[in-house]
Amino acid sequence: MKWNELPYEMPEYDESQDTLIRQSTIGQMQLCPGRVKWVDHPEHLDMLSEPLVFGTCVHEIIANHLLEGKLQEKMLLSMDVWIEQLLVDDYDWTLKKVPLVRDFFSEIAVAYRSWVTHVEPTLDSKQIIAVEQRQLMYLGEGNSGNIFLHGTADLVFSNLLMDWKTSRRAWKQQKADFSIQASLYMPLHKQTLEVSIQEFWFWVFNRGAGVWSLLKTTRTTDQIDAALATALEYGRQIEAKAFPCTPVPEASFNKQRGWYCKPKFCSAWNVCDSKFMNDGINEKEIAVRSW
Ligand code: SF4
Repeated sequence: MKWNELPYEMPEYDESQDTLIRQSTIGQMQLCPGRVKWVDHPEHLDMLSEPLVFGTCVHEIIANHLLEGKLQEKMLLSMDVWIEQLLVDDYDWTLKKVPLVRDFFSEIAVAYRSWVTHVEPTLDSKQIIAVEQRQLMYLGEGNSGNIFLHGTADLVFSNLLMDWKTSRRAWKQQKADFSIQASLYMPLHKQTLEVSIQEFWFWVFNRGAGVWSLLKTTRTTDQIDAALATALEYGRQIEAKAFPCTPVPEASFNKQRGWYCKPKFCSAWNVCDSKFMNDGINEKEIAVRSW
């Protein structure tokens, strides 16, 4: 499928035979396809980390603010309730296992209040057409079924897409310019909401400095078409269960293990049989899920 052909008549998604792909799965596959291979294995450790949960909590309170159109005082006062619920539902974790809970809550409150002060006033609410709406798009045929892309933009305006990010450090412009999320969400929303948008704004909360910064990026039609072809290829790879492991980044000439192929960073570490490299890392170490 190509940008100029959108929107088109889509086949219905059939759970029994079709394959779903999202931009975060492509990110994992680009590091090492093995990270996706074992997701359903009983010993696979579902992703959990403080930065991941922090980002989810900030998204949650901002989404509620946008949907209700008002300050979320109640959420600020009841973090122990809704964050506990979110931890249990999304991460099979609990607040009792979170060290320095007060600091964690207070940093979420800072991120949210700073968003209310510095980001919200810049938003043109009349142009908003969707808040956190999940979208689904047909990408093309696979071998046994069809390949679909799904994703949820934080905010869709009639002329641009917007996403909130949280990070320990400031983002570089390149990160926005190379984001496959931006490239894929443009055609996704052209297909589903019939909006022709080639601009994406990332609002990034820098946790070190406690400030939100704006990074704007655009895509050409060729870049979007290339991202659609990439997503389709990865979808076909998932459908075919073709997951060649790459513990070493392909571009590396010194054959060093990638940072991501370590017990702390790979959820598949305990089940993966492709991690053995004789490079000084103890491959018998058992990874545990920790904050
Ligand atoms: S342990 Fe290494 S090789 Fe295995 S899936 Fe994880 S990143 Fe890939």
